[in-house]
Amino acid sequence: RELPSDPRTDVIPRQVFHACYSKVSPSVQVDNPKIVAWSESVAEILDLDPKEFERPDFPLLFTGASPLVGGLSYAQCYGGHQFGTWAGQLGDGRAITLGELVNSKSQRWELQLKGAGKTPYSRFADGLAVLRSSIREFLCSEAIYNLGIPTTRALSLVTTGNYVRRDMFYDGNPKDEPGAVVCRVAQSFLRFGSYQIHASRGEEDFKIVKTLADYTIKHHFPHIESTSKSGRLFFSSTGQENDSVVDLTSNKYAAWAVEVSKRTASLIASWQGVGFTHGVMNTDNMSVLGLTIDYGPFGFLDAFDPSFTPNTTDLPGRRYCFSNQPDVGLWNMAQFVSTLSLANLISEKEADYALERYGTKFMDDYKAVMTKKLGLQNYDKELISNLLNNMAVDKVDYTNFFRLLSNVKADLTTPDEELLVPLKPVLLDVDQERKEAWTSWVKTYIQELSGSGVSDEDRKASMNSVNPKYILRNYLCQNAIDKAEQGDFEEVRRLLKVMERPYDEQPGMDEYARLPPAWADRPGVRMLSCSS
Ligand code: AMP
Ligand code: MG
Ligand code: MG
Repeated sequence: RELPSDPRTDVIPRQVFHACYSKVSPSVQVDNPKIVAWSESVAEILDLDPKEFERPDFPLLFTGASPLVGGLSYAQCYGGHQFGTWAGQLGDGRAITLGELVNSKSQRWELQLKGAGKTPYSRFADGLAVLRSSIREFLCSEAIYNLGIPTTRALSLVTTGNYVRRDMFYDGNPKDEPGAVVCRVAQSFLRFGSYQIHASRGEEDFKIVKTLADYTIKHHFPHIESTSKSGRLFFSSTGQENDSVVDLTSNKYAAWAVEVSKRTASLIASWQGVGFTHGVMNTDNMSVLGLTIDYGPFGFLDAFDPSFTPNTTDLPGRRYCFSNQPDVGLWNMAQFVSTLSLANLISEKEADYALERYGTKFMDDYKAVMTKKLGLQNYDKELISNLLNNMAVDKVDYTNFFRLLSNVKADLTTPDEELLVPLKPVLLDVDQERKEAWTSWVKTYIQELSGSGVSDEDRKASMNSVNPKYILRNYLCQNAIDKAEQGDFEEVRRLLKVMERPYDEQPGMDEYARLPPAWADRPGVRMLSCSS
């Protein structure tokens, strides 16, 4: 860490050399802060009694206005490649870790306030967060978790009672918005950029990369630490004999790189499955634990569009659009392994091997995800690519299509004119010619299903367990934001409840499975900027 300074006042923007973090205390000003919502399941992993949330000082503690006893608060130093370009030091500009909590299962959880004031890494910005983006981060952390996808979590969302000036990009006029603080929770917030920054600063700091890697492996990948000391196992990089062979057990850093690679590949395959588009996959937003991290201008696909990006800052390049995410994951991994190899922790061969594993793991997982979404027994590349082509042509809703697909019966005697009946609600705008294309696809699909020997009922149950009925569409967030900005937090709480059970039918909640209304097709709802 940085040498002693005054953690209450020393938030002068600066380059922090030779340190992984700086001590800093929250400095946000509050005025009658109010709790908007909290997550019961995160409270449970922290062994927090629900009564704690009724304490009058809860909003003070979880905005950072009152110190949490026993914590050592700090902000992390990290760098990153932003939109493909090395950006140097970034760091926790508006996130302050309060400390770590060890729960009754001996798990260690880090509690971090986002929007609690400036840090040495705030650069030109204010260290604060507005209610609008905090609601989005709070809800989506929990929505992604409940979809079964690894993510940082969110314990609580509290308004500060004060206003924050923001340039609303869509009309260019600065606006005062309510401020808020989200308490994020994860086993670690370490990112690719946490290692990159030290390697980038030259040979003298390579030892910091090693110290941080040792720390990470010891605390977060303990199985690697133990296997790397035991027997020797050899993996062929291409599966062929007499080829370059990488020994993953003689070098724990190589084994670690492979695991980060596989977790990242697996994470992105699961995003593709539910149509999640992260929006800002810079290397500072890539968790080394393979978690979804930093919910900014994210978006779920509505109408299927491979080039969809929810981020206005990503135009016109669309580097982070939906269909590019798997390639960007690999590009980011390439930066990560080159950091480890620059710091002499892994060889070039080991770096290449880790990248190769990304490709195989991504394809294995992606095939499994898509096969399950279609309720098939075996991966059928042509059937799936024809389907995605059809969906793109007709801009079919990604979520609702797969949910309805489970109603198709594996009955070869279904007359042609009835084949599209189960899919009718998502194919309303399709003309006659396109209907023929869809009929032909469904026919092939039914042929495939009928050979599987799985009952319609079992297939439907299995498909519904991977095809969500409810996803956190941007317009749903916006509804909750509009009400919360008027002081009514009920919609945030209701949305959280619905998103806690995305795969279940929830009677009376069908309105949350609807397509976006016309008003939602405007900047600030369907697309947002990086800096919100
Ligand atoms: P992001 O694009 O959200 O990953 O943010 C990139 C960098 O900008 C990170 O270092 C953030 O901590 C920092 N940052 C974003 N918003 C603010 C803010 N309001 N105040 C201080 N730093 C910020
Ligand atoms: Mg970030
Ligand atoms: Mg962000």
